[in-house]
Amino acid sequence: MKVTVRDLDVKNKTVLLRVDFNLPMDDYQNIIDDKRVILELPTIKYLIENDAKIIICSHLGRPEGKRVEKYSLRPVCKHLSNLLNKEIQFIDDFTKKGVKQIVSNMKPGDVVMLENLRFYKGEEENDENFAKKLASLADIFVQDAFACTHRKHASTYAIAKLLPNAIGFLIQNELEAFDKILVNPEKPFVAVLGGAKVKDKLPIIENILDKVDTIIIAGGMSYTFIKALDGEVGNSIVDESKIDYCKKVLNLAKQKGVKIELPCDNIATKEFSPNAKIKKFNSGFLDKEYQGMDIGKKSIKKFCKILQSAKTILWNGPVGVYEFKKFRKGTIALAKCIAKSNAYSIIGGGDSVASVKDLHIEHKISHISTGGGASLELLQGKGLPGIEIINDK
Ligand code: AMP
Repeated sequence: MKVTVRDLDVKNKTVLLRVDFNLPMDDYQNIIDDKRVILELPTIKYLIENDAKIIICSHLGRPEGKRVEKYSLRPVCKHLSNLLNKEIQFIDDFTKKGVKQIVSNMKPGDVVMLENLRFYKGEEENDENFAKKLASLADIFVQDAFACTHRKHASTYAIAKLLPNAIGFLIQNELEAFDKILVNPEKPFVAVLGGAKVKDKLPIIENILDKVDTIIIAGGMSYTFIKALDGEVGNSIVDESKIDYCKKVLNLAKQKGVKIELPCDNIATKEFSPNAKIKKFNSGFLDKEYQGMDIGKKSIKKFCKILQSAKTILWNGPVGVYEFKKFRKGTIALAKCIAKSNAYSIIGGGDSVASVKDLHIEHKISHISTGGGASLELLQGKGLPGIEIINDK
């Protein structure tokens, strides 16, 4: 168990809070989605109410060690200030003279925000001197940037060695949710894995085989499995280098009594384009010139039936080419099934999260993870360096 912000005495202490305010922005620096800020409010409010002096820091985009105006956190600072109804001083360059004075003048409950940490080379290089400069501003480090914890950067890793530290509420919620499915899941536990990158998902399958009852494998990754079972997949995406790995995982699943469910029908096209003419095929029988773009009606029915009786559901990755509206039907149908179910449900991964957002059914999902890469690594059974470095209780 990690030390949480509640375990530390923060009264009158200066707390450096690492958050993930890497928000989607338009070309005019307007925030498109402030979900990550909203989810951070409980930690910030707790620190304010408990008389800490709070220095918020984050990255935004990929400025690669240079000052790039479109990646400034200033608009996010303004937005947070409005949400909290509180003045927040924005610090343009924390390495400048005078900043220490600003910090030492802070009163309990005051909040300041630093400019994008990736404007400095030392951040992504996990540079110790850069971390020391950051650490010199504060008494305590609070890690709450879950989506960045798979990376060893100065503000997510090196800094934790320099200050007393804790996790914030956002990370605490993420860890509790993943523990629910990875430690003692209520059965039946059904995992739905989709998306294109079979190489990312195979280690997840291996890691959860001892916990799940059924794994539904769909989307682009399913064609490598179907090919491993000698099915005909036409022009569908296949990772040839992972066919043997798929065979190994299928055998392991069989030994452990885990059911692997693949699509039974597919919507396929000759071209990979949004309006391509479709043809339906039974899975494993695609014509040479066709590629699978979505699952068909029979697969939707079969998968939804399995999901109906689940008590725990994990979903990662779309079951079709979600970017093209015409090929969203399978993903949308599964999102609705999961929302309807009474199971404890976790969703991670860009397109699966997008589908529940598009359908406005986020509130019907038990936990929507904020960390794409970080949640993948957690599901693969890997440790997250940015969390491992935080002190245990
Ligand atoms: P991942 O990052 O592995 O979760 O993959 C997400 C991507 O998988 C999305 O961009 C989808 O368009 C893609 N995808 C899902 N199904 C298919 C498919 N049948 N053929 C090609 N790409 C797919």
